[in-house]
Amino acid sequence: MICLDGCAEQYLDEAIKQGLMPHLNKMSQTGYRGLCDGALPSFTNVNNCAICTGQPPSETGICGNYFLDMETGKEVMMNSPEYLRKPTIMAAAARAGRKVAFVTAKDKLRKMLSVDLGGIAFSSEKVDEATKQTHGISNVEALVGAPKPEIYSGNASIYVLKSGVALIENKLADFLYLTTTDYIQHKYTPEEKEALEFYRDIDIEIGKMLELGALIGITADHGMNAKPDIIYLESELTKTFGVGYTVICPISDPYVLHHGALGAAVTVFIPDLAKQSEVAEWIMNLEGVTEVYTRQEAVEKLELASDRIGDLFVLCGENVVLGRTPEHHDLSQLDRPLRSHGGRYEQIVPLILSEPLSEDYRKKAASSPRNFDIFDFTCNGTTLQEGPTDVS
Ligand SMILES: [Zn+2]
Repeated sequence: MICLDGCAEQYLDEAIKQGLMPHLNKMSQTGYRGLCDGALPSFTNVNNCAICTGQPPSETGICGNYFLDMETGKEVMMNSPEYLRKPTIMAAAARAGRKVAFVTAKDKLRKMLSVDLGGIAFSSEKVDEATKQTHGISNVEALVGAPKPEIYSGNASIYVLKSGVALIENKLADFLYLTTTDYIQHKYTPEEKEALEFYRDIDIEIGKMLELGALIGITADHGMNAKPDIIYLESELTKTFGVGYTVICPISDPYVLHHGALGAAVTVFIPDLAKQSEVAEWIMNLEGVTEVYTRQEAVEKLELASDRIGDLFVLCGENVVLGRTPEHHDLSQLDRPLRSHGGRYEQIVPLILSEPLSEDYRKKAASSPRNFDIFDFTCNGTTLQEGPTDVS
């Protein structure tokens, strides 16, 4: 199972059109290629947690990278395993006797999702720190045949896939979850040379895995769009309604070079709940805002966990991001026009299998499948699982 971080359809279309992804193209024709809906907000941790557990954020409890703990009043980074409320499919596969390996680009994601894994788990970011005792494997750089890559690079992702190839080749794993990082997609449009070369390199590793006999399922955590317009929502609320409003940007994480903590979804804590509907209506009228939900509506309509979001949940348009105040976002680190994700416009992502779907799963694929169904599709949904045809 491969999660291509930030892989909007256009990246695949463009690279295939230019003949740079022959293996993926063949896979799409002989297997299955369609679309599925990711979880909202369309952020990395939200969707990786959903994918690894097969459950929406209402069940995993992971509705963003960041939240305001209402009991302590503190803003907390939700990147340690105690915040995850469901066990992972990888851990279940290991218990069932599979040789499981979980490889990420960012180490935070490895920490979050490798609890009780019972297998191999490491990140390309800290591949040199992997030891048999702590990560289920040591000397990974020698195994992969390449040194630790820079985290702010396309290579951090290619390294994840190369690791997968090495683990399969050396028979160290037979059930793998490989999840990349979206550094390239945050920086480059699908037509740019850097993006095309990145997808060409991804395809080379996919080709090797297919050659080794792997059954492959591919999806993404979210897509990516150009975001020239910024709404600093906390500043706007303070100007209009006074102090006491807190806007939490759930995209915030330690890897700020990607996006300056600007995404297409935020949650708002309001000081006086009597004003909730007035404030909601006012936010909805801001140009660029597309959806505003109360906490309860967000639970029902967006499948979020009520204690991990604020009083209002806000989504914005295709080319818009929501921020807190200008002081909260260091954009000096961005050396390219901002591209980001988090809302509806980045929710639809690829669903690709290397084998044809069985009849049941063809029906499932035709009725709005989710990206967090990818393990189900890959493990149970292809004609391979129907077993040999009875020819007697
Ligand atoms: Zn991502």
